[in-house]
Amino acid sequence: MRILIVEDEPQLARHIRSALSRHGHTAEVEANGAHALQTALKEQPDLIVLDINLPGMDGFEVLARLRQARCPAMVLMLTARGEVGDRIKGLTAGADDYLTKPFALDELIARVEALGRRGGVPQAGSTLQVGGLHLNVPQRHVTRDGQTIELSPREFDLLQVFMQEPGRVFARTELRDRVWGNEQDYDVRQIDMFITRLRKKIDAGFSVPLLQTLRNVGYTLRPPVGTPSA
Ligand code: CA
Repeated sequence: MRILIVEDEPQLARHIRSALSRHGHTAEVEANGAHALQTALKEQPDLIVLDINLPGMDGFEVLARLRQARCPAMVLMLTARGEVGDRIKGLTAGADDYLTKPFALDELIARVEALGRRGGVPQAGSTLQVGGLHLNVPQRHVTRDGQTIELSPREFDLLQVFMQEPGRVFARTELRDRVWGNEQDYDVRQIDMFITRLRKKIDAGFSVPLLQTLRNVGYTLRPPVGTPSA
């Protein structure tokens, strides 16, 4: 699913995003309520994880305006512990479910996926394709031109991040946050090492290299020119 995370605690937002992306979802983060509203209306995500206390505009207001604008996205609200009033207010305002902070990331994933099934959102991202490269998320299986490619769990996660947004350029710091979100001290230079290994596995022996380096900018996975993209 395409998910918008609206959360102003950067570390929590990052953890939520990496957990969602490990489960095959594409997630974006907004920390400000007013910006989140604009992004949600523009991008039409399938689901919004919405905190209540936010700068700019609080979560209740964001939700009310989304519903006013007939935004069909499902909304999972994050409420503070013990604030029963918040839950009721949120559900009345049109939230589909709520989760009380602090929560386990597994619980969040379970709620998100339950909402996805309820909302009939196609489980997008279960198979990703770029050129001849196919990545099956639930089976964690990768092939290129029908040939199986063995990846380590982290290499797989890294490739999944690229394949969810083909052509998008990722800075090393972003790749680190998306794949190694829980390990703050991970050195970005180690990302280069992972990229080198990943490139060997997915590109070596094939005439068209998919994983591109943009010097001093980052990395991107691009379908070869002239090939229709998936
Ligand atoms: Ca907050």
